[in-house]
Amino acid sequence: MSARLFAAVVAALAFLPALPAQADTPELPDRIAAAWRTDHVSVDERLRATMPASELARIRTAIRTAGLPVYVALVPQSPYLRASGYDLPTLLHARIGEPGVYIVAVVYDNYWSDQAELFRPAGLRGRDLSSVRADDKQDSEVVDERPAPQIVRTIQQASTAYDGRPLPQVPAADLEPQRSEGGLSVTDKEDRSAYVGLGVGAVLGFALVLFLGLRRRRPAKRVRREHGGDSPPTEAWDVELKADDKIKQAERALARLDKRNNKSTKQLDQRDDAYRRLDAARTLRADQPEDLLAAAGALVLARQAERVASGAELQPPCFFNPTHNPGTSTVDWEDEVEVPACQSCVSVIRRGRTPIGLRVWSKSGLLGHDRKQVPYWTLDPEDNPMVATGFGGLSDDLPERIAVR
Ligand SMILES: [Zn+2]
Repeated sequence: MSARLFAAVVAALAFLPALPAQADTPELPDRIAAAWRTDHVSVDERLRATMPASELARIRTAIRTAGLPVYVALVPQSPYLRASGYDLPTLLHARIGEPGVYIVAVVYDNYWSDQAELFRPAGLRGRDLSSVRADDKQDSEVVDERPAPQIVRTIQQASTAYDGRPLPQVPAADLEPQRSEGGLSVTDKEDRSAYVGLGVGAVLGFALVLFLGLRRRRPAKRVRREHGGDSPPTEAWDVELKADDKIKQAERALARLDKRNNKSTKQLDQRDDAYRRLDAARTLRADQPEDLLAAAGALVLARQAERVASGAELQPPCFFNPTHNPGTSTVDWEDEVEVPACQSCVSVIRRGRTPIGLRVWSKSGLLGHDRKQVPYWTLDPEDNPMVATGFGGLSDDLPERIAVR
């Protein structure tokens, strides 16, 4: 290779990361659909050189045992994809025309997230994929730095939605390390038993948390050692998807409640409270559709709306990361402030560490060009009602604060 050609290749490689941003066009669905005619796993040409064969092998194995047709596309994030929202699986189904689960796995900055839609044979009805996914407590714990874990999980969820088979456990290697280490991984069972066990105590505990939280609203200092090293950033669109799923579930729960005749006063109160939370969730999604904090706030409020509408007790979010399971326990945080936390974060705190928490990009430096990831609770509470209230974990007035904004 001549020195000049070599330099040209190096230059081309250097610009490669910028390429995906410009290369996608509305023809993307056509390209994927064409590829699927020969192989149900389509890997975008921009990813082929770096895609480990083992990842694709795992995906193909999962497809073979799925019990329904599966179509998988792996693509890099692009402005076109962002603009198309979550419609791509639907656009692809329109081109293929076959029933099955259509999965589009998108990579951005080495983090994967997927969009999926389940299409049944005409006329058949059944459980929503989004409802299986929303009920899957392990869904948010699946690692995202490789494509296969999430895609395999989505295929399993689709099989459950399709033929009712039980959802298997996620293999430990596919779970985020801070969740699986220490033996206190957050499972359905633990969470539920903690909830049932606390009962009235949980409500009183929450009231205590509110009191303490109001006294000292901003546990901003980080005196404890950070847990772990660099953590993967939480991708906004992943939380957005979950929030939108939860909003739909809350709407269904409220519709069920609305249909009941002779509602008791308690049920009418629950209905009002659930609508208040749901409205605030919708407002957050509508006003700031691409903001991580707004999406996480919407997820928390929609989850609470669904519970309240279903007659279940209100649960505060996990203070450290509102996308975790609800904060069914309380832990000492700083200066004797107690905050609600999920089992996983409780176990981290008990080891004397600070949970990684929900991280957001913070601009710093002279021109605001130095971007780094910081825990959301270190941001200025004046700027954001989610920060000020710990997503409602410190004070349960997030819906009001959103309404008056
Ligand atoms: Zn947590």
